[in-house]
Amino acid sequence: MAKKQFRAESKRLLDMMINSIYTHREIFLREIISNASDASDKLYYKGLSEKIPGIKREDFEIRITPDREARTLTISDKGIGMTKEQLYDDLGVIAKSGSGDFKSGIEENDGDSEADIDIIGQFGVGFYSAFMVAKHVTVISKAYGEDTAYIWESDGADGYTVRETEKDSTGTDVILTLRDDTEDDKYSEYLDEWTIRQLVTKYSDYIRYPITMMCDKTKVKEGTEDLKDENGDPLPPEYEHYSELETLNSMVPLWKRRKSDISDEDYSNFYKDKYYDNTDPLKVIHTNVDGVISYSALLYIPGRAPYDYYSKNYEKGLQLYSSGVKIMDKCPDLLPDYFSFVKGLVDSQDLSLNISREMLQHDRQLRAIEQRLEKKIQSELLDMQEKERDKYEEFWKNFGLQIKFGIYDNFGMNKDKLQDLLMFYSSSEKKLVTLKEYTQRMAPDQENIFYASGEDVSRIDKLPQTEAVKDRGFEILYLTDAVDEFAVKTMMDYDGKTFKSISDDDIDLGETEEEKKAAEEREKSSRDMLDFMKDSLDGKVTEVRLSQRLRSHPVCLTTKGGISMEMEKVLNAMPDGSNPDIKAQRVLEINAGHPIMSTLEDAFENDKDTLRVYTEILYDEALLIEGMPVEDPVEFSNKVCDLMTGRHAE
Ligand code: ADP
Ligand code: MG
Repeated sequence: MAKKQFRAESKRLLDMMINSIYTHREIFLREIISNASDASDKLYYKGLSEKIPGIKREDFEIRITPDREARTLTISDKGIGMTKEQLYDDLGVIAKSGSGDFKSGIEENDGDSEADIDIIGQFGVGFYSAFMVAKHVTVISKAYGEDTAYIWESDGADGYTVRETEKDSTGTDVILTLRDDTEDDKYSEYLDEWTIRQLVTKYSDYIRYPITMMCDKTKVKEGTEDLKDENGDPLPPEYEHYSELETLNSMVPLWKRRKSDISDEDYSNFYKDKYYDNTDPLKVIHTNVDGVISYSALLYIPGRAPYDYYSKNYEKGLQLYSSGVKIMDKCPDLLPDYFSFVKGLVDSQDLSLNISREMLQHDRQLRAIEQRLEKKIQSELLDMQEKERDKYEEFWKNFGLQIKFGIYDNFGMNKDKLQDLLMFYSSSEKKLVTLKEYTQRMAPDQENIFYASGEDVSRIDKLPQTEAVKDRGFEILYLTDAVDEFAVKTMMDYDGKTFKSISDDDIDLGETEEEKKAAEEREKSSRDMLDFMKDSLDGKVTEVRLSQRLRSHPVCLTTKGGISMEMEKVLNAMPDGSNPDIKAQRVLEINAGHPIMSTLEDAFENDKDTLRVYTEILYDEALLIEGMPVEDPVEFSNKVCDLMTGRHAE
């Protein structure tokens, strides 16, 4: 029979599996068991929701059978089974759920083995992990309600076959023919009773169905208990060997167990198994609530962002259980968008089993749970921020962006809930600080929370405006993500203190009345020159003025009104082109204390053409300092060269 080929991306995954030096090979067993459990869940749930008599919880079992002679390990379940089509669709290509996103992960990956391992870990490769230990995989399955059973077979990358076969009962047998042992790899250990028992306890203890195995036992042979020798002294009894079916797992779902009985490793293994991540979770939140509404929740904050987290493909949601029966795999209504990174599950006896997706959205119980979870997540994060700052910074690195989007979203509707989670880099502390820490440090007469935005910390640090504000002893928050300034503008204030960009033209740095007066005088006397300069810039700036803030730099650009230069950059870079010509209202500030000032004044007196050129150059310089492109780089460099060769002086 002709072999059917795996789809391209599956083939690539298989290659990875087969050649993998993956150290966590043993996870194949939990993957196969977890599929058996899923299949049992599906049939059990079908029975419940369609009220099919004769489908009982007690009937389900997952049986492990090692056979040393045949070198096979068989995992059998009495679950929903697979039809012929499903054998093609589900085993012939990468499966839908967790490993569905695998495709894109693989396509992005160029075949380096470190990255391979990373991918394997991130997705929980499910069924295919069988090929890490098996040279041949056979799946015999009979779907619920079908008369015919089918057998699927594969040696790995070169394809698979499916044909009809015999099987008495509904369900699936997965038969792994283990690879040959080598010097380094003893695959036969997976036929070892003790090893299997270990693996089941480690990874699959909480599976809701009994995982059974025929185990070797020894007992005292009947009638030999009281053997005596001819002197009447006791003799050692005789023993006999027999096999007995044993259940290897405790079957209590992890979230139903007492917290004190659960180790960090238990939590972590459960997380990695269920949520396709090989990184330990950063935080586990396990709560049992009894009251008007009762539920258990087991929530995880991942240790890193999934590779597709900030893309459209990412789907948020928690698994939803009703009294231990899974009714939905990703219930989005349990998590607000700004906490979409949270993984985990909710189990409640107060939810109806037959609830449909549409009904869920309007379900009062569900809303109530959602609100409580949200509060819980928020308070746990704040707690982490306070007590485990390193961990929180790790969290912030991964998911801070999402929190900031959350503030900006819906016109700031959720800012009160989220603002204390924010962290920004501080000019004075040289690390991330919270808004509360900032405001607590503020001098009593400081009215604003100062911030500066730019590409990165070192660039912002070099801005002329920064220097002036720092010189006056103010702390500045450095905003380096595109969304930051939008979030801050949405919030407007924090604890009664208004946010103020250090690039705003009307920033108040607490100058004395005399200082302000003197500045006004200077400005007045230079008015004509400044107006001339503005005109020569031909509408590029709203104003040219003398600066109160500059120290060593000759010029800087500030803005009037709501749109800053950073925001202009972001808005113009939007891929949908929705904001084609939003422009910040620019103000060119000249440092009156800089030697350039007398050069300008001189030119204004004697040579207006030269002043025009100087102004253009200064404007371009200011743009460059801001990290903005100059409009005409060629012209700019020509002008500078002309200066060097003294052409303007003529
Ligand atoms: P996932 O479990 O994430 O869907 P897997 O690769 O583990 O991915 O499994 C692929 C698919 O194969 C499953 O979604 C399921 O449809 C099917 N499958 C695997 N094992 C079984 C089984 N024992 N019984 C029924 N279906 C199964
Ligand atoms: Mg699976």
